[in-house]
Amino acid sequence: MSNTPPGADRFLHPAGHFIDGRLVPPDSGLSLPVEDPSTGELFSTIPAGNAADVDLAVRAARKSFASGSWSRAEPSHRGRVLWALAGKIREQLEALAWLETRDSGKPIIEARADIAGTADIIEYYAGLASKIAGQTMPLPGRTLGMVLREPAGVVGQITPWNFPLYVGAWKFAPALAAGCSVVLKPSELTSLTLLAAAQLALEAGVPGGVFNIVTGTGVDAGAPLSAHPDVDVLAFTGGTVTGQKVLEARAKLIRPAQLELGGKSPNIVFDDADLPRAIAGGAFGIFYNQGENCNAGSRLLVHDKVYDQYVAGLVLAANKIRVLPPLDERSQMGALISAAHRDKVADRVRAGVAAGATLRCGGEVAPNDHFARGHWYLPTVLTEVGKDDVLFQEEIFGPVVTVTRFHDDDEAIALANATQFGLAAGAWTRSVDRALRCANELQSGYVWINQYNPTPVEAPFGGVKSSGFGRDCGPQAVETYLTWKSVLWSLAPFEDYYQS
Ligand code: NAD
Repeated sequence: MSNTPPGADRFLHPAGHFIDGRLVPPDSGLSLPVEDPSTGELFSTIPAGNAADVDLAVRAARKSFASGSWSRAEPSHRGRVLWALAGKIREQLEALAWLETRDSGKPIIEARADIAGTADIIEYYAGLASKIAGQTMPLPGRTLGMVLREPAGVVGQITPWNFPLYVGAWKFAPALAAGCSVVLKPSELTSLTLLAAAQLALEAGVPGGVFNIVTGTGVDAGAPLSAHPDVDVLAFTGGTVTGQKVLEARAKLIRPAQLELGGKSPNIVFDDADLPRAIAGGAFGIFYNQGENCNAGSRLLVHDKVYDQYVAGLVLAANKIRVLPPLDERSQMGALISAAHRDKVADRVRAGVAAGATLRCGGEVAPNDHFARGHWYLPTVLTEVGKDDVLFQEEIFGPVVTVTRFHDDDEAIALANATQFGLAAGAWTRSVDRALRCANELQSGYVWINQYNPTPVEAPFGGVKSSGFGRDCGPQAVETYLTWKSVLWSLAPFEDYYQS
């Protein structure tokens, strides 16, 4: 592409994994193609990592952790370095956003928001690095108790393709703030910006070996990382089935894991809602990032009284979304990540319609103009979807929303909670009582009232039920990367137990 922004070239063709502070060619000598989802063009390659690469990176991480260059550095120093990294990411915003858009197919305006958000995340944890503190307490027998918070050690992290650098930062920023050494495996579909970030981290002052990136497929690089016996903590974001595999590997080692998995999030519109706002919020809640969003509001639940008006407004809003090439500044929705994923989305919708759902708008797109190449799917609204339908129960991870009718508050809450997932939920109402009831009764790690989608780093993010456990964001995220150590210090004369 001729319009590569300044700075992007440097990160466009990575010469290797990033291990021990340098680019290291893969053990296999092989690479994986990198596709632009909006055109199908293969515009780069990444190293095809394997167990040997993972092992090399874990050894580098262990060595750096043991050296203390980061793990025992003054917390305020770690904070200053992370702050400098955030500054470098802001300086490179255009280049990184461009890489993210080419890699993921998301609109450039949304990629810019991701990169700015990444810097926000790193700045938050830069500040938190010096606020990690333990406890003291008096103990029986004139003993002083001290509870130390220590970095957990070598951390493995595995991340998805939908918000590559942003969700990557949810993982690596708190781990680095805590003093851990990291081996991160990005999604094989979107590895470029995380490789770039690790290089920028070295320049910002993160010592070599502290922040390593190994690229490759889930089977060849992800599985060996989650099963590596020298990885003290494994943090994973991705699909529920993959999460199960990761957890099984950790269970065999009896080592902890943090899991951020899928969702099927309800977005409830009560009859007292500000309807135009709820329509706009419902559309934004599902169609942002092509619906490839773990917290997407993919199940709209709408009160019978306003149902027809709501659906008409939602269809209008969906049809107005500008589905354009993602580097076009006007683009509001780009391409889906891959042909396989687009086909999966299309199959789900086709099967849902065959099972009785009504397609109100969207669906597959005729392969004309910019839709002739790449992996496109239109903003899609489906109605006549009931609680037991597959469309209601299973994550689609695309720009597809179902709308289901309810008749009273009890039914709304019951429907909202009627899936295996519990990642996020939304409610639109002018009633304080209803809002509070939703906040209390929705089985979900995150509840939006009269808005949908923002995930500021200050608030912990994560799920209940099959959406996982542990939290990204907030001070809670650092907990994943710390251990407790109790120190018991006797202030009394020693009494020999066996003397009497
Ligand atoms: P995925 O599970 O296919 O892949 C996620 C990561 O796991 C990738 O890096 C992949 O290479 C790796 N992986 C695949 N198989 C593996 C294995 N056997 N062992 C170890 N690692 C393996 O998910 P995806 O398609 O990249 O992302 C979409 C999913 O991620 C959706 O379900 C979405 O809801 C979820 N997600 C969740 C959150 C959250 O915070 N809860 C955020 C973003 C995405």
